[in-house]
Amino acid sequence: MDSNHYNDFSLTDWSVPSRVDRKSKPDATQINIGGVCIGGPDVVIIAGPCAIENREQLAETARHVHKAGANILRGGAFKPRTSPYSFQGLGEEGLKYLKEAGEETGMPVVTEVMDTRQMELVCKYTDIIQIGSRNMHNYPLLKEAGKCTKPVLFKRGMMATVEEFLLAAEYILCEGNQNIILCERGIRTFESSTRFTLDLSAVPLLKRLTHLPVIVDPSHGTGLSWMVPAMAKAAIAAGADGVMVEVHIKPMDALSDGRQSLYPEDFVQLVTAIDKVAKATGRELFHAKSSPA
Ligand code: PEP
Ligand code: MN
Repeated sequence: MDSNHYNDFSLTDWSVPSRVDRKSKPDATQINIGGVCIGGPDVVIIAGPCAIENREQLAETARHVHKAGANILRGGAFKPRTSPYSFQGLGEEGLKYLKEAGEETGMPVVTEVMDTRQMELVCKYTDIIQIGSRNMHNYPLLKEAGKCTKPVLFKRGMMATVEEFLLAAEYILCEGNQNIILCERGIRTFESSTRFTLDLSAVPLLKRLTHLPVIVDPSHGTGLSWMVPAMAKAAIAAGADGVMVEVHIKPMDALSDGRQSLYPEDFVQLVTAIDKVAKATGRELFHAKSSPA
């Protein structure tokens, strides 16, 4: 697996921004969130619905994914929807349900912040703030996240190169926040059979260029629930530190992204499959050691 003897070949013709550059910090950055370590030797699984729809939906999903072995609960309260007529999220009410479900299951939670004006409110309820693909270039938001004390789950812009992604992460680091989890979530290409093209080659590239943890979101990356397990396993095989997967108790009734959401029982199977891939690459699932399901 050691590819260091290829060092003589220049990887890219651009230079990696300094603070994210692995040369400035050879050791991998490990981020500890409520007892879960991202970027360490173990594989971390983040799961939950696309959007928080109501208290029961979230609580039930949280119980399912926790039992199956998820480490961190996801759920959107402020949703960046393509259409302004689609469900926009429950706002603060949703954040309350998220915090509640996290506390009930003992999982740290992650939710998206879309606007600098929401930062304080979102930080009050969440353990990790997510900056979504559509906001990767929102520099005021990046600077605000850089000043905040919560770790940032930072998604690659769907039209962004890896260089632009790293330069954007540098904005967050420049303001003092070093706890950034990079997330590959698919990019726009000419291919229209899948929602996006999941760029898994970005995983070894990012792992080589930076010290920051790298996770993969195969749900948005493919847009197709049946394809999620294959790409989640491939992500771990490619060296990702974890995956983030959308799970819904009734995908057919989901208010957003039902087509790409797994049924809880399929998520159970996925965790087992990821465990096997992790072991095959000399790793294991985080929960296997710290909180056996
Ligand atoms: C999400 O994770 O809820 C989301 C909206 O993803 P993205 O920003 O990658 O589209
Ligand atoms: Mn979604």
